[in-house]
Order: sequence, then structure tokens, then C-alpha cells
Amino acid sequence: MSSPAKTKNQNSYDRITFLLERIKHNYTHQVTGIEKDAKEIMKIARELKDKNYEGLAKIELAFYYCTSVNDYQKSLKLCEDGFKLMRGDFKNFYRPYYHLNLGRNYQMMGDQVRAQIEYLRTISLIDKKENLQTDEKRWLAASLYNAYILFNQEGVEFNQDEFLERSYHLYKEINEKAGLANCYNSFAVTHFKNHNLEKALEYLLKSYALAEEGKANTHLSIYSANIGLLYAQLGNREKSQMYFTKAQILNEELKSKYHTGHMYSQMGAAAHILKDFDSSINYLSRAEEIFRELGVAHSLSGVYQKLGETYAQLNDFQNAYAYEVKYTGIIKQHFNEEKLAAIAKARNMFDMEKKEREAELLKQKSEQIEMYAKQLETSNYELQHFAYVVSHDLREPLRMVGSYVNLLERNLKEKLGKDEKEFMGFILDGTRTMNQLISDVLAYSKISFVSEKKQVNLNEVLGKVKKSLLSQVDESGSKIHSEKLPVILADETQIFQLFLNLISNALKYNKNSLREVWVKHTIEKGAHHIIVSDNGIGIPKEFRERIFMIFQRLHAKNEYTGTGVGLAICKKIVEQLGGEIWVTDSEHGGSDFHFTIPQVNNKST
Ligand code: ADP
Repeated sequence: MSSPAKTKNQNSYDRITFLLERIKHNYTHQVTGIEKDAKEIMKIARELKDKNYEGLAKIELAFYYCTSVNDYQKSLKLCEDGFKLMRGDFKNFYRPYYHLNLGRNYQMMGDQVRAQIEYLRTISLIDKKENLQTDEKRWLAASLYNAYILFNQEGVEFNQDEFLERSYHLYKEINEKAGLANCYNSFAVTHFKNHNLEKALEYLLKSYALAEEGKANTHLSIYSANIGLLYAQLGNREKSQMYFTKAQILNEELKSKYHTGHMYSQMGAAAHILKDFDSSINYLSRAEEIFRELGVAHSLSGVYQKLGETYAQLNDFQNAYAYEVKYTGIIKQHFNEEKLAAIAKARNMFDMEKKEREAELLKQKSEQIEMYAKQLETSNYELQHFAYVVSHDLREPLRMVGSYVNLLERNLKEKLGKDEKEFMGFILDGTRTMNQLISDVLAYSKISFVSEKKQVNLNEVLGKVKKSLLSQVDESGSKIHSEKLPVILADETQIFQLFLNLISNALKYNKNSLREVWVKHTIEKGAHHIIVSDNGIGIPKEFRERIFMIFQRLHAKNEYTGTGVGLAICKKIVEQLGGEIWVTDSEHGGSDFHFTIPQVNNKST
């Protein structure tokens, strides 16, 4: 039974879990709700003396200060304090999240280099892990996305599209609509830059629909303003106005200065396009005020540039010049060469680390493959051994059946009727076939056992085969022709078996009065190519692969005797020597059985 204290603690932890979930939901939905929940977690964690959750609550609060209050210094401090409180595995798990939040603040403050370093660190930390949890996937996707945005802002090509792609796929995987919407927004920006306004609008509307579906109000505010600007560009005043109104309503609720600043900046740009320069100045000045207060350098530089252009349109060259100066000043301050070099260095280090990680992974994989190969080898060996033992042991009871049936037949000779004699015959026939099958399987399983290789003169082997087939050759009046054959490194018994199977088949599957076999040899592509050709019945094309499988026969037993193991044995022997075996039509009307044996390690005469 759990103690009351423990139950109370359990309730507190359940409450923390609930609040953390609600915060996650509010990241995009209603950032303002985060403050209350984070503070409640902090209170509970303090009561529980749980520094880990107290720390996490601080980092969540930091997120709120970054995205809603836009107090980046305070947010940074909360991050640092929160992370310091955490310990052990808990701390390690949240380490990437901590770096992501640092990155977000630096990014907003216009410190591109530090922001980039923090994002790349987050990516590296998570990339090292396996079996990512949803939270980790979300942080990774966010870091990849933010790093992409930064690289783009710097106007340098770092292959950042790959970051956007990865982020997009991760968001898809965890089905995070707000994240996906952001990716669509970026796809839209690319189309916009390429002057494909229609496509840009299509993607922006997709972003908008997704954000709406996910109730991601902060994102909706950004997209509404972006769509408002795009419609202005497309000359549709009415729709432009409609989306700006939506943005205004959302921002009143969100109370985020940054989002309001972004909206004014887009409204100013739209008014400029629609040649309403006075309104443009008005909106842009409001944006300027907000961004300056927040210290968001990148957004501010855009506003300065637009203000300069708009004053010029109004022939107010004094102000136009003043803003141009401000614009170049801020660009110099924030995007100078030194900083770009630092960012390039961060990216290079990140790439290098990634490559090292990939190399390590590759090493692990190849070790794994090696291990599997070994396991496979062992189980293969065990299987062959099993087949050998089983077939060996099966012979004994079979021999018993055969012998006793023979005895019975002899003892009952007089008493057996015609039918019974025939049945006895069937039994004996069956045992004979089974005996043959067992010896063939035995022979098949034996091939894989390590065998001793030596120089084998194929001419001599062929001589022995001819001798052993003598009775067959004599009674059918057959001829075996052969060219000069090479000497190869192999197991002699196996080579004998190979030739014996092929030549005896060539004579067996043959209805000619003069059965003939030709053994030919050539060298092709570094391999001995040997052909056993016959003038027999041939093999239809559709069966030419199947016949090499064990127990595959094309004829009934009463037509041609056999077990269907012979060619399977041939295939195994050839393949063990690194060669191949196949069959084609023969110029002599029957079949050509071809096999190759690589010359490497094989001396030819
Ligand atoms: P088996 O001869 O014991 O049936 P094999 O594995 O040696 O088994 O051959 C498989 C099948 O391939 C045979 O049943 C036969 O139908 C066909 N075959 C083999 N060699 C020849 C050949 N030289 N000509 C025609 N058919 C052949």
C-alpha cells in the first residue's frame, strides 16, 4: 500500500505532467497561458523539493518571455537558471531544449552567430541519439527550421534547403501542424523570391489552413500579414485588407509586440506597393518603433530599407537618405564579414561532426553485418550437419524395413497370393527409392563441409567418369567426345560428382539411337567455361531455372528414374567454387549445360 505522503506526491507529479502538456499545447495556441502554468509547476516543484521540474518550469517560462513578452535578456537568464537546477539524466534529456531556447533568444536579439551555434548544437545533440521521443523530434525540427531561416537571412548558401526538408519531414512524422505550416511558409518565400506569386500564394494559404486547423494563433498572425502583403502584390486590395484585419484581431488577443511589429511592417510594404505612401510611412514607423524597442535587428533592417524607399517616393530625400544610412549601419553591424565567417565556421564544424558520426555509424553497421554473416554461417553449418545426421540415421530403420520384407517374402513364398506379391514389390520399390533419396540428400549436404582442395586435372576426372559409366555407354551405344580440359584447384570428389551427374543426365534424357555427349572448354572473362552438350530431349525454356532446385523433376518416375537432386548438387559445387551454372539449347538438338569456374587461384594447362 502506498503511504498518504506518496499519494500526495503522486498527485502533484500528475498535476505537473498535466501542466507541461498544456504548456506544449499552448506553444503555438495561446502563449499567454504558459506563464500561469509554468509558475504553478514551479510552486509545486518547490514544495516537492524537485529541482529538475523547477528548472524545467523556468525554461518553459523563458519560452514565454521570449515569444510573448519579447524580453530576451530575462528569457536568457531564466534558461540559464533553470538549466543549472537540473541534474543527471533529466538534465541530459533537456539539454537540447535548453540550447534551442538560447538560440531563439539570440536570434531575436540579432546575434546570428550565437543563435546559429546554439541551433547547430541542438541538432548535433539530438542527432547522436537513437529512437527519438516526440519532444526530441519537435526540438530537432524547430532547430533545423530556425537554422534554415538564419542561413537564409545571412544570404549565404550553406545547403540549408536540406535543413528545411528535414524539418518538414520531422513535423510530418509527429503531425505538428504549426511546424508544417512554417515549412510551407518558407516554401512560399522561395516562390516569392523567384517571382512566382501564384505558387507563393498557394503555399501561404496552405500554411494558413494548417495553422488554423492547429489553432496556432501566433503563426496565423504571421501568415495573415504575409498573405495580406501578397494580395497587395497581386493587386487585390480587398483581400489584402481582409487578411490584415485578421492579423489585427489576432494580435490584439496575442499581445505579442513582435507579431504586431511584423504585421505593421507587412502593412507598410503593402501600402507602398499600392502607392499609398503616407499610410506606408505610418505603418512602417510603428513597426520601427516596436522592433527598435525589442532590439530585433533583422526585422529592423528590413523596415529601415522600406522606409528609405518610401520617403524617396514622397521626394523626401532627407529622410530617405537618413534611413538608407541607418539601413547600411545596421547591416554592417549585424552582418559583417567577420560574423559571416564565424557562422561559416560553425557550419563547417557541424558538418565535420556529422561526418564523424556517420563514419562511426557505418563502422557499427559493418560490424553488425559481419556478426550476422557469422551467425548465418554457423546456422548454415548446423543445418547442413542436421541434414547429414538425419539422412544418415534414417538409413538404418529403412534397411530394417527392407530386410524384414525380404525375409517375409522368402518365408511366405508359397502362401502369398498374386496381389500380396505385388504389394510386397511396391514396398521394396519404395524402400529402394527412399534409400536413393537419402543418399542423394546426404551427398548434397556433404558438399558444404570444408573440403580439401588440390590441383585436379579435369581430363583425368573425365576419364574416371567415362569408366564408371561404361555399362551405360555400352548398352546404349553412346559416345562421349571431349576437348582438352584444364587443371583446376578443387575437391576432386566433387568435380567427379559434377561431371558424373551432368554426363549421366545427358545420356539418360536422350531418346536417340546414338546418344552423344560433347565436353568443351573455353576461357572467358577470367573464368574456365565448360559446356556439357547432348543430343537428347532438351529442356523447355520455362523450366531451365527450376531444374537446379532440389527435388525438382520434369518427368514421372516411370518415364525416367531419378530423385531430382543431381543438378542441385552440381549447382552447389559450382557456386562453392565461385562459378555459375545454367542451361541453353544445344546445336546438337538437346541441351547445353554450362558452368564457369574463376581462374583466380586456379592454374590452367
Ligand atoms: P534427376 O535426374 O534425378 O531427376 P536432376 O537434378 O539431375 O534430377 O535433374 C532434374 C531434372 O532436369 C530432370 O528430372 C530432368 O527433367 C531435367 N534434366 C536434367 N538433365 C537433363 C538433360 N541433359 N536433358 C534433358 N533434361 C534434363
